[in-house]
Amino acid sequence: MKPTDRNELARRLNGEHVSYDVPLAPMTTFRIGGPADVLYRATTVSELVNAIRAARELEVPYFLLGTGANILVGDRGFRGMVIKSEVRGIEFLDENRVRVGAGEVVFPDLINATVSRGLGGLQHYVGIPSTVGGAIWQNLHFLSPPPDRERTCFIEEVVESAEILTESGELRTVDRAYFEFGYDYSILHERRDTVLTVTFRLEPQPEEQLRYNMRENLKWRDDKHPDLWLYPSAGSIFQKIEGIGAGRLIDQCGLKGHIYGNAQIFHKHANIIVNVGGARAEHVRHLIDLAQRTVYSQLGYELKPEIGFVGEF
Ligand SMILES: Cc1cc2nc3c(=O)[nH]c(=O)nc-3n(C[C@H](O)[C@H](O)[C@H](O)COP(=O)(O)OP(=O)(O)OC[C@H]3O[C@@H](n4cnc5c(N)ncnc54)[C@H](O)[C@@H]3O)c2cc1C
Repeated sequence: MKPTDRNELARRLNGEHVSYDVPLAPMTTFRIGGPADVLYRATTVSELVNAIRAARELEVPYFLLGTGANILVGDRGFRGMVIKSEVRGIEFLDENRVRVGAGEVVFPDLINATVSRGLGGLQHYVGIPSTVGGAIWQNLHFLSPPPDRERTCFIEEVVESAEILTESGELRTVDRAYFEFGYDYSILHERRDTVLTVTFRLEPQPEEQLRYNMRENLKWRDDKHPDLWLYPSAGSIFQKIEGIGAGRLIDQCGLKGHIYGNAQIFHKHANIIVNVGGARAEHVRHLIDLAQRTVYSQLGYELKPEIGFVGEF
């Protein structure tokens, strides 16, 4: 980034929250990724709006970062400004509705706050690393409660409205339909809108039942998913293939447990790649390419990555 742009950004943004040449790896659940030229931590709606407007006006490339749980950052980092969304705040509007800052973490903070008021709808997403903004971007989802687990629950089911900064710079309140939610999809994949706050409409439910649901989901995750502290990852790498399962296809090709560099196709769940210590983005990219090529040539299915690729590789 040009030094003049750096200086101008620093002038326009709150100096305390700006830093330079910051490694992004610790800000992602993969623990992978080179430095951002500029990192800005936006802690209020007005800081977030101001940062995005400044980046657009100066034509500085920017990336909005939540908990970094659905991305792979390149080894050479990001040329431009990473805006870390730390807009917190949980405000109960009435007996059903809660307005939340887009940088609020879904688990544990938001889930605990709502469940302890006997409000259900978010408990399904226990144990998933995500900000509220990231959850809207991706339409966060998980299986319905035990014992049947017969359907997938999506966060869209409890979204009432949201305040956004549109890609053309307008502040708007939009309803759920605006997001055109789908599986792993919202309109945010196409439009560079920024979610500022989200209002959820939740259902009163006995707290004990919600806590039971949470315990069962955490047990399910413990059995099937890598422990993030031991095996950093970004969750599922490839999009779901209805009725078949991307992980099952990779497993059928004998790639479960395959290691390249310091990354591994997880030995318990082949749709997850884990960092076994000091992995680089190039190691993960190699495994992604390998899984795609092998599954296509042996079984004829095309695997599409679900995660976002950020910065220079
Ligand atoms: C161990 C593990 C388990 C997981 N399990 C699940 C699961 O069961 N179900 C599931 O659905 N996902 C799962 N995931 C994936 C991940 O948790 C979700 O995709 C999550 O919503 C990502 O949120 P984030 O805040 O980390 O977003 P990030 O990864 O930081 O960003 C993702 C995208 O969202 C955009 N974004 C972030 N904030 C905003 C905002 N305010 N406005 C507009 N865009 C924004 C970013 O720019 C980026 O494009 C899992 C991940 C891990 C590591």
